[in-house]
This record gives sequence, structure tokens and C-alpha cells, in this order.
Amino acid sequence: APLVEVAPIRRRHDAVEWLVERASLRATLRARLGEVYDLERLAGRVTLGVASPRDLAALRGSLERLPEIGHALAGVDAASPEALAPPELLNLGSDLATDVAQWIAEALVDDPPIQWREPGTPANMIRRGFHAELDELTAISEGGKGQILAIEERERERSGIASLKVRYNRVFGYYIEITRSNLARVPADYERRQTLANAERYVTPELRAYEEKVLGADERRAALEAELFEALRARVAREARRIQALAERVATIDALAALAEVAHSSGWVRPEVDDRGVIELHDARHPVVEKLVPAFVPNDVRLDPDSASLLVITGPNMAGKSTAMRQVALCVLLAQAGSFVPARRARVGVVDRIFTRVGASDNLARGDSTFMVEMRETAAILRYATRRSLVILDEIGRGTSTWDGVSIAWAVAEHIHDRVGAKTMFATHYHELTALARSRPRVRNFQVAVRETPGPRRQDGGAEGPESGGVVFLHRLVEGGADRSYGIEVARLAGLPRAVIERARTVLASLEQSDLRSSTRDAASPQLALFEAKAPPPALSPVEKEVIDRVAAADPDDLSPRQAHELLVALRALLRG
Ligand code: ATP
Repeated sequence: APLVEVAPIRRRHDAVEWLVERASLRATLRARLGEVYDLERLAGRVTLGVASPRDLAALRGSLERLPEIGHALAGVDAASPEALAPPELLNLGSDLATDVAQWIAEALVDDPPIQWREPGTPANMIRRGFHAELDELTAISEGGKGQILAIEERERERSGIASLKVRYNRVFGYYIEITRSNLARVPADYERRQTLANAERYVTPELRAYEEKVLGADERRAALEAELFEALRARVAREARRIQALAERVATIDALAALAEVAHSSGWVRPEVDDRGVIELHDARHPVVEKLVPAFVPNDVRLDPDSASLLVITGPNMAGKSTAMRQVALCVLLAQAGSFVPARRARVGVVDRIFTRVGASDNLARGDSTFMVEMRETAAILRYATRRSLVILDEIGRGTSTWDGVSIAWAVAEHIHDRVGAKTMFATHYHELTALARSRPRVRNFQVAVRETPGPRRQDGGAEGPESGGVVFLHRLVEGGADRSYGIEVARLAGLPRAVIERARTVLASLEQSDLRSSTRDAASPQLALFEAKAPPPALSPVEKEVIDRVAAADPDDLSPRQAHELLVALRALLRG
């Protein structure tokens, strides 16, 4: 729950800082909190009348932990900060834990069963001593069961049938079962009830009498248990509001302790928060990516509504543009939520909203194309962002033709700079956009640095590490604009076939040579011109030449399927070097 006002954000930071400094208190709190169930959900289930005996037992266990949490907080050296110390928080649940938890403890056994709604079958969930009539019924039914065992013993002796058993099922109640081989010894007073393939089932008047007593008692017991449980649940439900309020306080402590834990374990710092609009991060990291890559490179970013409100970020594919922008947004979000941030030093001028336009989240099912979604989101940003907002734009306009894309990106950047004034980071492969900095005072160009190396190229076209030749990604954000995307290098690293890569290099070289990019820029329909231009056909590599010659020379009517196959194998081998 991020906030937009400085004072309450600072109060949260005070609390997190206080907990960061007190490791053993934090450990105690987290251990106790680990034993507290989701109080809010439990209270909700109680209110709705769907809480099970297990839920009430969990509620009791959780409430019983609360005074310990309150004591832990109250018993430390210095006065606790405001966010952690409203008086009712320190006395966390002392009254509630001792009444609601006690009602539950008195009525329910410690570990009630999951199954408790079998009609006629007692669940044994009510504590002995809680209700006199229930105890009596329990004694009768258990006594009756003892009697039935005694009957079994006696009947075995009387009949001399060692395998005689007294059993129970729902349809026939209690009965005596005798296997077929022993039927000759069945006493005359047995009444036959049912014949099975290899046994007969009987009852006796004595058995029936006990059955009535036991089943009657069980039925009454089950009904009484359910009644007592529901009464308990209703009684607890009347306190649900208090429990909810308590749940919220516990959640506050839980959240602050968790933020303190991550701040401590991941080396985050307390951000300075103010209303001056500047965002300044030193050695900031992406909280997730830094856990995944072995040597994350921290970066500095400064956004200032008066001097550097729009950063145009260029750089090769894979350089870390998206990561750099997202880490800024995440740091601001974390800071305003009251958390420390993954940086060495951070100053965050509070923003009113964070807008992002990242990734390609198509909405094909709703009838929007990828580009349509991109434009809709951009439109919303232009409409709703303010001077106090933070805007992250990752490659606006890439979903359409190059010149349409550049033009839209350009106009969007200008509009944000001139009219909206929101602090904005704009990553793009349209290096043309770096020219904006010449005409717009608050535009700054940044690039994510790479180093070109002449390193060895692998011949097999297999996957390679980022440092195996071509470019080395430094992941460092530096001032200035990039002029190349190294897209082909990245395509090569991704494992595109060598022949395709070679071809792409050739095409790129010839496009650059004929300088189509600049010569068509002002044409009425530049995109079309790109393809209609009478550029010299790109030169073929010797391998491509040979492949084409051999295909041209082959006559399909002359080739057996086997020869055709061999030709294909040979061509493929050629292409793969
Ligand atoms: P593209 O232009 O192709 O979308 P990009 O410049 O936006 O690429 P990212 O997606 O941000 O690049 O990063 C690519 C990968 O580089 C990430 O998945 C991450 O593993 C790594 N990376 C990014 N930033 C850093 C960093 N600061 N330190 C170390 N590794 C990083």
C-alpha cells in the first residue's frame, strides 16, 4: 500500500529502521508471527458462519501468540517508533486473547478433527468437562461400546466359535458375524439378519438393547456437539470486528518486520523522502534481477523536473535498459510503500503515480493487436500523467513500421517533455530520438555501455556467453547516446543460423552504404522508399553463390528421391560451413 504523503511514509521508514537495528527483537517477532494464522481470513470465516472447528483452534492458537508479540515490542530498550507503537498495539490482544482464545480453549479440544459433520457420528471435538449432559452421553455411549465388546467375548465362549465377531454398519447396526464353516454351532436364540457368500449375520435381543442405547446416545451426542460448536462460533463472531482490527495491527507489524528483514539481509538503505520532485539513486539495483545474476552492476540515476525530466536511454539489445528503468520504478514504489530500497543512497521525491508501458501484453482475445494495446496504454499515460508522476516507457512505437514508430515515439517524448512534465525514462532503439536533447532543455541522453571486442567467434553457431566475442555488456548507464543496436550480435548470441547472420550483416552493410536511412527521412512516404529504393542488390557470399548455382543446375525431373535428398544434405552442409 504505497503512500503519496511524505509524513506517513517517513513514519513507516522510522519503524523499519528501528526494526533493522534490533536483530533479536526482529527474530522474536518473526518467529511468533510465523505461528499466527491469517487472522483476517479466520475472522471472515467466523462471521460468515463457515469456520470449522480447526479454524477456531487456529484462531485460538494465533490469539494466544499476540500478547507475546506485544510484550516483545514493549520490552525493548528505547521507545518504539510511532508506526509500531499505538498503545493498543503494545497491549496487543491482551484482553481479546484472554477472552476469545479462552472461550475456544474451554470448549474445544486442542486438536479437533477435520471431519465433524457426519450425521449421527460424534466428532469428539468438545472438551470433556465443558458440558455435563454431553459428558453423560459420552459415558453412556462409551460404556455401551465396552458392553458390546464384552458380549462378543461371552458369545465366543458360549458358542465355541473363535472367529465370531460383533460388527457394525449403518444399515443393520450392530450384528454378530459367523463364517459359513461355523454355522452348525450357531446358538438357537440368534436371529438371522443377512446372508453373505461365506458368512451369516445375526442379532440377539441383548445386542439390540445395547445398540439402541449406544446409537441413541451417539446421535444425541453428535447433535449436542454441533449445537455447542455453533454457539461458540456465534459467540466468537460477535467479536469479529475486534479480531479484524487486531488482524490489521498484526499485519502492520508483520509487514514492517518483513521489510526490515529484507532491508537487513539484502543491504538496502533508507531513502530520503521529500516533496521536491527529484529522484536520485546511487548504485541502485533491481531487487529481483540482482538475486538472479551473479554480478549485478549497480547504476546511478537522477531525474529532476527542472533539469533532467526526460531521460532517453539508448543502447544495444540486451544491454540492460529495461532493467535500469524498472529498478528506478521499483525503488520509488518500495520507498513510498515504506520500505528501504536496493541502493547505496537514495532520495525520492514523492510521485503521485507510476505509469509504465513495458513488454508486449497483447490482448488478442479482446480484439486488440499488440500495437493497439501499446498505443492505448500510451494514450492513457499522456492523458493521466502529471508533473508529479513517474513514467517508464520501454520502446514505444516498435510495433509498427520504422518511420511510423520513430514519429510516434518522437511526438510522445515531446508531448511529455513540453506539456506533461512527468519524470520519464524512455528506452528506445530509435537513435534518432537522441536529437531531442538539442532542442529540449530537460532531455538527457543516456546509454547502456558495451565494449566491442575482437574476441574469437565460434564456428559452430552454437549458443555463446555474452563475452565470447563481438560485444561485452557492461550494464553501465552513462551519459550520451548510442548509435548502434548490435542487434545482429545479439541475434548471433541467441543462436540464429550462421547463414542468416551473415546475410543480415551483408544487408545491413549495403543499407548503411546507400545511406537510405538519412536520404529517405524527409520523403513523403519513407517506409515505402526503404524498399523501393534502387539500392544495389546486396553482394552474395561465395557460399550463397555456390548454393544458388547448384540448385539452378539441378533438374528435379532427373533426380531420384535419393539424389534429391543427397543434394539437400550437401547444400545444408555448405550453408552451415
Ligand atoms: P532489449 O533492448 O533487447 O529489450 P534491454 O537493454 O532492455 O534489452 P534488459 O532486458 O534490461 O536489456 O537486460 C538483459 C539482461 O541483462 C537481463 O536479463 C539481465 O540478466 C542482464 N542485466 C541487465 N542489467 C544488468 C545489470 N545492471 N547487471 C548485470 N546484469 C544485468
